[in-house]
Amino acid sequence: MTPTPNFADHRRRVLEALQPDEAVLVFGSAHAVRNADTEYRYRAHSDVYWLSGWTMPDCAVFLRPGDEPFTLFVQRRDPELETWTGRRPGPEGAVARFGADTAHPISALPEKLADLLQGVSRLHYAIGEHPEHDAIVLGAIKASARKSRESAADVPETFHSPSVLLHELRLRKTEDEIAATEEAARLTAEGFAAVMSMAAPGVPEYRLEAAFEHKIRDGGGSGLAFNTIVAGGDNATILHYVENDDLLRDGELVLVDAGGEYSLYTADVSRTFPVNGRFSQAQALIYQAVLDAQEAAIAACRPGATHREVHLTAVTHLTRSMIALGLLEGDLDTLIAGQTYKRYYMHGTGHWLGLDVHDVGATSRGGRSRVLEPGMILTVEPGLYVPASDTTAPAALRGIGVRIEDDVLITADGRRVLTAAIPKEIAHLEAACAAPLSGTAR
Ligand code: CA
Repeated sequence: MTPTPNFADHRRRVLEALQPDEAVLVFGSAHAVRNADTEYRYRAHSDVYWLSGWTMPDCAVFLRPGDEPFTLFVQRRDPELETWTGRRPGPEGAVARFGADTAHPISALPEKLADLLQGVSRLHYAIGEHPEHDAIVLGAIKASARKSRESAADVPETFHSPSVLLHELRLRKTEDEIAATEEAARLTAEGFAAVMSMAAPGVPEYRLEAAFEHKIRDGGGSGLAFNTIVAGGDNATILHYVENDDLLRDGELVLVDAGGEYSLYTADVSRTFPVNGRFSQAQALIYQAVLDAQEAAIAACRPGATHREVHLTAVTHLTRSMIALGLLEGDLDTLIAGQTYKRYYMHGTGHWLGLDVHDVGATSRGGRSRVLEPGMILTVEPGLYVPASDTTAPAALRGIGVRIEDDVLITADGRRVLTAAIPKEIAHLEAACAAPLSGTAR
């Protein structure tokens, strides 16, 4: 059975956290224009989707504790327009298929909102993000205040950012969300198996990109978590290289950072492997240093540890290796305190993962690093990047960039690596690179 997010349960968690005078209002996005009358494919607004499962543009979700807590505003049905742009469930479908207690056309929002806000004194709404949404909300509050002169009902006096309630709940994944993420990870593993067996001298980077993306959509994934990075040779020392138009060369490594999306839940994985299937001695030294740092950082992921402790574990291992490899000179603690390691490791060790690939939820609160709890999913992705132009580095190490990234679920007794099926030990990677290509059109 394919995993389906349990949107009703997500709403239940929100409603349980709300006081009777609180409400949540989230707007979907508009369709983004690509050029002329062509639009980008719409990707659901993550908060709207998490609350409702609604994946179409021009919509809004309103939640408030009570007998009929869930109101959806959606595009109205329009048979003529639907011939051009696709089927719309309309307000009827929002009730019948999405579990809304009430649904209205989005055009009715300004008027209906004034009534819905009667008795609400605190509104969870992202004020300041979209001026056109703010104008509707402020207009509705004004109209609601006018009505309240007769009804004596409260109207919103304070706004709370979605980060206060919604994103704290999204940060802690439930079983349905973990199952969807596991499916994204499974598809991503298939994608990586394809790119590993396809890599060879003379193959263009974009062919690996295409092979990865084929596996995701062919397997029923909803899309990609982000633009696929396929970086051969020293392209790997450019962190967000997405051109993918170079040729893979004999004797070089290729870094692939890619992720599939399933029911809009993402995976995010990096692997670095030899184009010709065999690590050189210098490549293996750097690779093993990153792998050791990654495994130590993963082992540091457990309930009660902080996000920062995971990062410092990776930094300590990597800096020690930088000294051993002759990249840095000096005392370990001094090099860490002075952040000298940033010459070769300049990014953080991970981010939250969920509906957004860089998922919501602060990594620090009140100036303190976030303590990890069961249900949180984070990436662990140390790297080491030696620019080709770095004349201070040993010549054999120049132009080598390595990143290894897995997706880690915090569990009650530690952690589970959701992407553990993707090879990363040197011997396993070399075997995967030698494996014959299966089931991928090329
Ligand atoms: Ca990544």
